[in-house]
Amino acid sequence: MNDVDKLWELQTVFTALNEREKQMAVKPESFAAVDREYQRVNEEVTRLQQQLDTLMKERRRVDGELADQQELLRKYQGQLMQVKNQQQYAAAWKEIDSTRKQVKELEDADLKMMGEMESLQTNLDQRRDGSADLKARWDTAHDAWQHSLGDLRAEVAKLKERSAAIESKLPERLKNEFLRIFKQRQNVAIAPVVSDSCSACRTRIRPALFQQLKRGELVFCEGCRRILYLERPTS
Ligand SMILES: [Zn+2]
Repeated sequence: MNDVDKLWELQTVFTALNEREKQMAVKPESFAAVDREYQRVNEEVTRLQQQLDTLMKERRRVDGELADQQELLRKYQGQLMQVKNQQQYAAAWKEIDSTRKQVKELEDADLKMMGEMESLQTNLDQRRDGSADLKARWDTAHDAWQHSLGDLRAEVAKLKERSAAIESKLPERLKNEFLRIFKQRQNVAIAPVVSDSCSACRTRIRPALFQQLKRGELVFCEGCRRILYLERPTS
């Protein structure tokens, strides 16, 4: 195997590596579909839980205020016992009356919140119960994906071994030249010759260069500066 053949093989290995790495980055549709559903349910559960938390906080605030108002009411009722005239009596009653109204309003708000919290909790429990099956499906699909990634990882490791082996047999300068072109030219450093032209840029190869190619020499395309590869019958 001459150097150009080695470069061609290296290019093939790099292309396979690229493909595997791309595949590994993409969620397969079999997993992506159940994942989308799962995320949607999770978001809904989170939203309901947040509503419930907000309501619980608000209810604690209302309960605190209610306790304050009830305390105030007892104080006014105590004062009623100590009034000395009609005027003080009327004033105390007025305070009692408005505080009672406040207490009633807060009690109503509390009751309403309790009802809302109950229905939110029921809704939340139902969604959590219902998502058990979805979670099982998500786990299965996720495991299958991870398993397939395991296969890909093994392939990637093998390909990397192979590329390292080829690289070790290449002259340092040639290897670096190849890697430089590979980076600069959209991950294609070496282009096969197809009907006397460079298959990457379609530039026609002059007969003199073609002779060099046939002898297995290193030839660069005059159009794109990639290394040219002429498939020769293996002897
Ligand atoms: Zn070219």
